[in-house]
Amino acid sequence: MPVGLQAQPSLGVPGKKRWAMVIDLRRCIGCMACVCADKAEYDVPLGVWRTIVKVKDTGSYPNTKRHFMPRLCNHCDNPPCVRNCPTEATYKHEEGFVLQRYERCIACRTCIAACPYNARHVLPKNRDRVKIGGVIDKCTFCHHRVAADLVPACVQTCLGRSRIFGDLNDPNSEVARLVARHSVVTLKPEKGTAPQVYYIKPDRVHTEQVLSRPVSHAARADAEAFYRHNRGTQFFSGVL
Ligand code: SF4
Ligand code: SF4
Repeated sequence: MPVGLQAQPSLGVPGKKRWAMVIDLRRCIGCMACVCADKAEYDVPLGVWRTIVKVKDTGSYPNTKRHFMPRLCNHCDNPPCVRNCPTEATYKHEEGFVLQRYERCIACRTCIAACPYNARHVLPKNRDRVKIGGVIDKCTFCHHRVAADLVPACVQTCLGRSRIFGDLNDPNSEVARLVARHSVVTLKPEKGTAPQVYYIKPDRVHTEQVLSRPVSHAARADAEAFYRHNRGTQFFSGVL
């Protein structure tokens, strides 16, 4: 049952679930299946996102690395978006979800300004298939799916099994065991928001192994062979 603006955070509510997500960055392959699943689940319009996977390239060819960083609403236990909403349109559910009451939202954008994670957006008006428009929207941890004993769409679809969802108050749940066993991190902890999306950082040892020099030499040899093979052909016209 939803609770209102002045609700205590979901931390340790006796007998209640405490839904949370673990994102294992060692396992994300940047396939964007989560982003597509989310777009499909909610008919998310072009130009806005409920979840994204940020991509960052470092190094220079052939010693390059690509890093993936899935992002979504952190369903904070101390959410500034909730504290600052003047109409109680957004609220903290007693089981941890931070949700929207669209009928109360006046699209004043205060929550967008208050969120340190850029996790909110304005839905355009006059949408084709979905009636909700002209209000603020965000990830809901797929509250409707969880209520039906399903995991969020992005978790269901995650090819790398990087996203894991469950009840932190259940010590036998996978999320509780992962949070207990790993030195997980949250985003911008200095903001005091108590995010409920926990990240397992990439394992540098294994990452460095994959990207170590022998592989780089192989990549260079491969590129040179490719160039030799295609030299003088049409392949490079307009490229080099
Ligand atoms: S991530 Fe932003 S929108 Fe989500 S609960 Fe925290 S402050 Fe609110
Ligand atoms: S579906 Fe999973 S593996 Fe693919 S980009 Fe999203 S988080 Fe990463």
